[in-house]
Amino acid sequence: MFKRDLRLGDNVDDYCVRCKLPLDHTIVAIVNGEVMKVRCCTCSFEHAYRQGKGGKPKKNDVQSLFDQVASSLQKGGTPKEEPAGKSKKQRDKG
Ligand SMILES: [Zn+2]
Repeated sequence: MFKRDLRLGDNVDDYCVRCKLPLDHTIVAIVNGEVMKVRCCTCSFEHAYRQGKGGKPKKNDVQSLFDQVASSLQKGGTPKEEPAGKSKKQRDKG
């Protein structure tokens, strides 16, 4: 694959770890022709060039959250049943 010469100040697409999005980045460090460091054009956060690769494959956060809620409901969520057939207290009236 043809490799374009990249220079300091060039813009490259990379994954910003802070924005958690693939965004425009400015090259701030090149070593042996390899981009080493980039700066996010959106948040100005500098980080190692990740070659456009995104973060880790995400586990299903929603599912795990749901599991937590579900398990907590199972633990203590059962409504208490009042003992049935309990007679009214006698009242001392008058
Ligand atoms: Zn950013």
